Amino acid sequence: MASNVNIEFRKLFINNEWVDSKSGKTFPVINPSTGESVADIQEADEADVNQAVQAAKKAFERKSTWTQMNASQRGELLIRLAHLIKDNVSIITELNTIDSGKPLTASIGEVLQGVSLLTYYAGLADKINGQTLLSDGPVFSYTRREPIGVCGLIVPWNFPISILCMKIGPALAAGCTLVIKPAEQTPLASLFIASLFKKAEFPAGVVNMVPGYGPTAGAAISNHMDIAKVSFTGSTEVGKLILKASADSNLKKVSLELGGKSPNIIFADADLDYAVEMAHQSIMYHSGQICCAGSRTYVHEDIYEEFVKRSVERAKKRVVGDGFDKKSESGPQVDEDSLKKILDLIESGKKEGAKLHCGGKRMDRSGYFVEPTVFSDVNENMRIGREEIFGPVQSIFKFKTIDEVIEKANNTHYGLAACVFTKDLETSLTVAHAIKAGTIWVNCVNYFSPQQPFGGYKQSGIGRELLVYNKILRLSLLYSLQIKTCKIILYCLTYSMK
Ligand code: NAD
Repeated sequence: MASNVNIEFRKLFINNEWVDSKSGKTFPVINPSTGESVADIQEADEADVNQAVQAAKKAFERKSTWTQMNASQRGELLIRLAHLIKDNVSIITELNTIDSGKPLTASIGEVLQGVSLLTYYAGLADKINGQTLLSDGPVFSYTRREPIGVCGLIVPWNFPISILCMKIGPALAAGCTLVIKPAEQTPLASLFIASLFKKAEFPAGVVNMVPGYGPTAGAAISNHMDIAKVSFTGSTEVGKLILKASADSNLKKVSLELGGKSPNIIFADADLDYAVEMAHQSIMYHSGQICCAGSRTYVHEDIYEEFVKRSVERAKKRVVGDGFDKKSESGPQVDEDSLKKILDLIESGKKEGAKLHCGGKRMDRSGYFVEPTVFSDVNENMRIGREEIFGPVQSIFKFKTIDEVIEKANNTHYGLAACVFTKDLETSLTVAHAIKAGTIWVNCVNYFSPQQPFGGYKQSGIGRELLVYNKILRLSLLYSLQIKTCKIILYCLTYSMK
């Protein structure tokens, strides 16, 4: 089951060169399916971040090759990068599975999603227009959209490739230069992609990658006086540190994609088999390690018992194993800390009175595997009903009326996403508009595409990704409105017209 892939890139990528960290320190990458170290990677800290920022700053100078380049040429470089990733899809997929433990099918899907994102943003590079303005008096005035400068991109471990591409696509299309910090748990596939920037012929210094830990390399980025913008995806807790660092340094612009506790709301008229499967996938996919995981399943009282029964049957059948095993539907948790946090929350659920139907334990094998777990009789006062678990733990709540479930679903400081399952169009739209979350899926879950914006209400974030008018451009008017994306799978309409 093991991979024979060669882990070629273990250094920092600065100014189109591979360099050792100044401290000479390294950190281990652990394969979460085995718990064993697979490579030692050069560990960046503040001194290395400074060097990377210097390179990025130089590449952004007024007469540099990069700033003089036509926008369409930037688009061509992004297309070249997308093709290089596609040409190397097998190796990047395997590295992604070693890094994160996710099954190869999920891994390849993520890499190809990265390719789509880069292609989408490549097409936008030469479509960044300003406006002419009708002004009072004998003046001609106009707006320009300008790249903001050096951007720090801080990436989490759960989707290291798609989130990386989600950030580099718009930033490079806009003409920014970059210092990227991949998560310490998952640097391998990202470092391979770093090697492709030089092959794609991005000028030196435009893209720099500094693998390392959050409180050192990450904090050096968020505190840096020469970084104009930080785009961060990760926990709400660290998101707050990034905002504070901005306030205490140079008031750099910050966009934050943070945690969630997303509700899945299942009405009595929903297609039961389908809703059970979707609710299961929305929490069990990638072993629950998804920001928008449906971690609160609200089920109407008329179908509650049956829904719980079928959800338990489904969870018991889920195949959890090594990502290189073709039978695996999901893999391990990313590391020992995550595993401990999940087991602690499961214990709290038992103590606080939720009913445990299956799972609830670490699997008896090496690596960081947790059994697919289902609780019913959960409420919002329990820790498992409130806190982000980031594990394969389905918590099922009961509701009676539409008003009650809207109130309960909104009773959280998160607001990333929500799902609604019903055949009734009016019900679906009423709920979609009343839930305070950035994305609402109706009769579908975790459906992404580059053309649809994504981001959170409340403490799930600031700003939106995957949107034409990305904040990396100096454009903020759009952000005085909260953008909600409602994604309705079409059969909802067909049902309601029957
Ligand atoms: P995390 O916040 O611990 O780490 C994310 C990144 O921040 C890593 O690269 C880490 O090294 C870095 N970091 C850690 N401490 C830092 C500091 N003090 N200063 C600067 N950088 C620092 O999150 P995680 O555990 O990697 O990811 C899981 C979290 O991310 C979950 O809460 C999840 O919901 C969230 N997430 C959100 C989205 C979204 O789009 N909203 C997507 C994926 C993950």
